[in-house]
Amino acid sequence: MKAYQELGRAAHYLMDVGNPYHSNLANPDKIKHDFYEEYVENHVGDWHLDLEAYQAPKISISNPKDAVKSLAKFSHDFRDELDSAIEVEWVGPYYFVSVKDEKTIKQVTLKLVRKTAGYTKGLIEYFNNNPSP
Ligand SMILES: [Zn+2]
Repeated sequence: MKAYQELGRAAHYLMDVGNPYHSNLANPDKIKHDFYEEYVENHVGDWHLDLEAYQAPKISISNPKDAVKSLAKFSHDFRDELDSAIEVEWVGPYYFVSVKDEKTIKQVTLKLVRKTAGYTKGLIEYFNNNPSP
């Protein structure tokens, strides 16, 4: 049972950095972060993100720490693209967030889900092949 808890924790940590707004602690744009997460949550169904994750090819892992770093770098590289696809307009103290480029958000998200799911499958395999003492 302990091994599954470890896997759960490791998988959570790994999947978290698959979100570009989590992969870099510097300059966290909370407005875009919150908007992006809610937006993706609302499109899980019509973008078929579950299917994308299910079909994602496994990425084999030899070192979980390196896998987290690689995924964080992969996702961070999409941060600017996402940022420019989401628009925040300030009117005095108020702001309005809107989608400037839905196609980009969708395409980037599909790539991120695919990569993150691939690494997660690799992590599960790693845990199966390397049982903790
Ligand atoms: Zn978040």
